[in-house]
Amino acid sequence: MDFSADADREAIRAAVRKLCAEFGDTYWREVDRKSEYPEKFVRALTKAGWLGALIPTEYGGAGLHVADAAAILEEINRSGGNAASAHAQMYTMGTLLKHGSEEQKRKYLPALAKGQTRLQAFGITEPEAGSETTRLRTTAVKKGSRYVVNGKKVFISRAEHSDLLLLLARTTPYEALQDKTQGLSVFIVHLKRALADGRITIRPLRTMLNHHTTEIFIQDLEIPARDLVGQEGQGFRHIIDSWNVERILLASEAIGDGRWFVERASRYATDRVVFGRPIGANQGVQFPIAQAHARIEAAALVRDKAAWLYDGDKPCGPEANMAKLLASQAGRGERGARHARRIRLRVRVRRRAQVSRDPAPPRRSRQQQPCACVPRSERPRHAALVLMDLVRSLMFVPGHRPRMVQRALGLGEFTPSGLDVTILDLEDGVPPDEKDRARAAIAAVLGEPSNGQGPARYVRVNRDPAARDADLAAVLRSGLAGLVVPKIDDPSEVLTLARDLDEREDAAGMGRGSIRLIASIESARGLLAAYAIARSVERVIALLFGAEDFALDLSLPTAREGEARDLLYARSAVVVAAVAAGRDAIDGIWPDVTDAEGLRSDALRGRRLGFAGKSLIHPAQIETINEIFSPSAAEVAYARRVVELFDAARGKGHGAVALDGKLLDQPIVERARRTIALHEAVARKQRTPPVERPAALEGKRLK
Ligand SMILES: Cc1cc2nc3c(=O)[nH]c(=O)nc-3n(C[C@H](O)[C@H](O)[C@H](O)COP(=O)(O)OP(=O)(O)OC[C@H]3O[C@@H](n4cnc5c(N)ncnc54)[C@H](O)[C@@H]3O)c2cc1C
Repeated sequence: MDFSADADREAIRAAVRKLCAEFGDTYWREVDRKSEYPEKFVRALTKAGWLGALIPTEYGGAGLHVADAAAILEEINRSGGNAASAHAQMYTMGTLLKHGSEEQKRKYLPALAKGQTRLQAFGITEPEAGSETTRLRTTAVKKGSRYVVNGKKVFISRAEHSDLLLLLARTTPYEALQDKTQGLSVFIVHLKRALADGRITIRPLRTMLNHHTTEIFIQDLEIPARDLVGQEGQGFRHIIDSWNVERILLASEAIGDGRWFVERASRYATDRVVFGRPIGANQGVQFPIAQAHARIEAAALVRDKAAWLYDGDKPCGPEANMAKLLASQAGRGERGARHARRIRLRVRVRRRAQVSRDPAPPRRSRQQQPCACVPRSERPRHAALVLMDLVRSLMFVPGHRPRMVQRALGLGEFTPSGLDVTILDLEDGVPPDEKDRARAAIAAVLGEPSNGQGPARYVRVNRDPAARDADLAAVLRSGLAGLVVPKIDDPSEVLTLARDLDEREDAAGMGRGSIRLIASIESARGLLAAYAIARSVERVIALLFGAEDFALDLSLPTAREGEARDLLYARSAVVVAAVAAGRDAIDGIWPDVTDAEGLRSDALRGRRLGFAGKSLIHPAQIETINEIFSPSAAEVAYARRVVELFDAARGKGHGAVALDGKLLDQPIVERARRTIALHEAVARKQRTPPVERPAALEGKRLK
């Protein structure tokens, strides 16, 4: 028995790891958060030839074995990625290569190998036929040289991101069959063409994981007989050949996950110091990690055997099934002791949320784990913190000015500026006859990939219902983080919009609540209802103070005083309402872009009042605002002392603890944790040390 590593396969692993290194935690976290398809990653994978791994060389592929494909997908997940976004292109080969005609192979495989065409969708499951595939009802009736297909498929992954679909349909009625495994046939369907002809409708399904799941409705779809794969009536058998490949490949992804988890858990167990030593020095922490590792290695051996049998053209059904069962338990399901689960969860949440690595209190830290223990009203604020959405600087940009938009987003020739949020404006900043152009321009730019440093993309929509309807139809797409809703006077307005968004998100498969809202308070009425507005729906993450319109509502002079004292009450009231509802408050603009001193003192005043950030209208204002709304070095040092002292006292069983003669109660500690988390988020974004700030601000409340 030879267990030595195959040098070629090791080289494949190394090359895939190298490619994956370009798509780190941040990339996958963003894709996940926005429920997006990882287009950029799949393109890179295709370009490098990995998705053509199983396509024979004579058709332009790499001509590799299933064992190699398994290594490729394993390495993607082992690097923290999600191979499921593209794996179907590999496992469909089990059917196509074994049963496809020479004509079909020549027609489809070279384009698949080059990445010109994608075969990412597999249409089998139906509402009435899940595990019992032989019960499926979608019919393909032969008429001359064509089959006419009617039916419905469910849980079909990636249909929106594929050119072709491998479809299983019934060619003989169930009742007419002696052998119920017969009577089904496999077809290659041109998805894009069928969509354009209205013969197929794809409806995204919202699921718990980002799997690009859909329902497919098929009506009178004509498929040329030349696109029948293999023999008519033998489709179930042909598909099973894909299933064994699929099992081996899915097992490999689970093994990759498991290896990733073990690696992160070990690293965390080594780094995390409690009671003066790494937690990994305790056997209670070591054992579950070691057990997980052992289970994954065992599953990998069975997977290797299954792949070896398949590649040797030997029956591999039992081994492929066992590999998938063992790997899914070892890599994803079987989590061992409770403690290991907590470590994993913490590592995972950290990875997803980039949360502070500072010592946690003995009970779950609210910053680390979004859970039911967070009071309902605090969840959005809490979520914003967990996801580290920085909202220090928010710049309004007129949507019909492409160059300004590009610049604000750090796209094209422009480099990212440190701006936290770009508010692409469709409202007051855009003349009425330019609105359509602005909608189209914003819709186009939302699809452009961010470089990871770029600001979150929000759109300010119109208040008028018809205009807002057109706004939402245009901009509700991946890339949009949220909406700024102007001139809100009453919570019912937010509720109506939220219901509309629920429906639109469902229809777009975006995940309910994924579009956040920033409600803008711009009138006396709005101010009086600000608390109810802030807590009306969970997707409201912040209140924005619309200073200009508010001043207009109160008939205040248009020219502002330094520090805008005339608006002091309203600004403070907005902060109080937002904080009471567990949301952030964002200050209004400083309108004079030439008055740097006015901006600084106005921003400082806003910070002292408790605002988390400030809106702005010119790039020259970003730096000052970011500086003022970031924790200073002294604040970070103080927060660290608070947390360290508090955790040490808790560890020794002391209830109360004082710092410099001041009792450290829970709100102070909680605030300190927030300060540290915010500082780390800022540091990650800017890679700069904490700012030095005027003494006047030190010790002031920082949210
Ligand atoms: C992430 C994901 C992606 C998917 N992608 C696709 C895709 O791209 N294309 C596609 O066609 N389908 C896809 N599916 C669908 C998947 O193949 C079906 O979910 C599967 O066939 C099971 O069908 P069902 O969900 O209807 O479960 P059911 O058939 O209703 O079964 C429900 C439960 O009962 C159990 N059960 C049923 N019969 C027995 C029995 N005799 N003995 C013991 N237990 C039994 C099953 O194991 C299961 O736990 C996907 C599913 C998931 C989760």
